[in-house]
Amino acid sequence: VSFGYQNVAPAEKTARVGAVFTNVARRYDIMNDAMSGGMHRLWKDRFVRRVKPRGGEEILDMAGGTGDIAFRMAERGARVTVADINQDMLDVGLDRAVKRGIDTLVWSCQNAESLSFADQSFDAYTIAFGIRNVTHIDQALAEAYRVLRHGGRFWCLEFSTTQWAGFREVYDAYSHHLVPRIGKQIAGDADSYRYLVESIRRFPTMPAFQQMIEAAGFTQTRVEPIMGGLVAMHSGWKT
Ligand code: SAM
Repeated sequence: VSFGYQNVAPAEKTARVGAVFTNVARRYDIMNDAMSGGMHRLWKDRFVRRVKPRGGEEILDMAGGTGDIAFRMAERGARVTVADINQDMLDVGLDRAVKRGIDTLVWSCQNAESLSFADQSFDAYTIAFGIRNVTHIDQALAEAYRVLRHGGRFWCLEFSTTQWAGFREVYDAYSHHLVPRIGKQIAGDADSYRYLVESIRRFPTMPAFQQMIEAAGFTQTRVEPIMGGLVAMHSGWKT
């Protein structure tokens, strides 16, 4: 069975992605641990260390889902708005925040491609494992640029393609055969996880994505591969 994502029209992608995350929302956090062997926690810790949120800074965590990045940044004193297109993901995040006693976050249902925030509202924009799900990435980058203040930073954490010899083959086999099976066992949903694997494969290479960030107007763009590029951190400045 194929998810058929490669054949869908752009307008339909957003709806399909919506269904994927509605299906997995309740099991999303447990699945992340299962799929990555807990490694997503280390990648997120590393990402937030690089972002270096400061007390009082206003940060937009786009595609923030169930709050993993926002919680880490709020712990450092930043004022974080978690925005996501999927209300089910945000609801799970809100429950988690209440359980953790974190009440400083703002939760907002938004499409990354057309944000309701005013120009120059934020000191930093973060997006973790989110941008590959967006239908028009260039529009999301343009919106990131618009809502950032001058001197503000764009930070993206996303799966990419590892350059480590041998590891890529192992990872490909794992993601194609095992990930949908784990998805079926834990979340009762193989197709959603097939989509997620497919979306990683189709995402632009590290240099191509860096160029897209530059094309949106950001300067001093950088890319930092993790595990040879299995995951990558991209960043840029609005000068
Ligand atoms: N950032 C969180 C994390 O690292 O755990 C969640 C990542 S989750 C893999 C991807 C998120 O992107 C989902 O919550 C999904 O609803 C959201 N998303 C997909 N398309 C979006 C869009 N166009 N605008 C905003 N959020 C979107």
